[in-house]
Amino acid sequence: MTQAVPLAVRGSRDGWAVFEGPRQLTRGYSCEYTAHSAATRLERQRRQKTRNCLCCGGQFLSDGPGNRMCNPCRNSPLV
Ligand SMILES: [Zn+2]
Repeated sequence: MTQAVPLAVRGSRDGWAVFEGPRQLTRGYSCEYTAHSAATRLERQRRQKTRNCLCCGGQFLSDGPGNRMCNPCRNSPLV
C-alpha cells in the first residue's frame, strides 16, 4: 500500500486551493477557511470506502479501517 500524500492548503494563482503534493485538487477559493473546509472534506472522502458490514453483510460507506459495521448495526444495542 502506498502512503497517502497529506493534503495541504496553499495560496495559488487564483486564491487558496487544496494541494496533494504538487497537484492542485480544487479550484482556488477566495477564502483560506473555505479551502481548509474543502481539504477536510477531501480527507474524509479519501478514507471512505464501500465495505460489506461484518454484521448483516449489507453494503455501507465506511469511514476507515476501524469502521466495519453499518450504522444500523453499530447503533444496535444487541451488538
Ligand atoms: Zn450491518
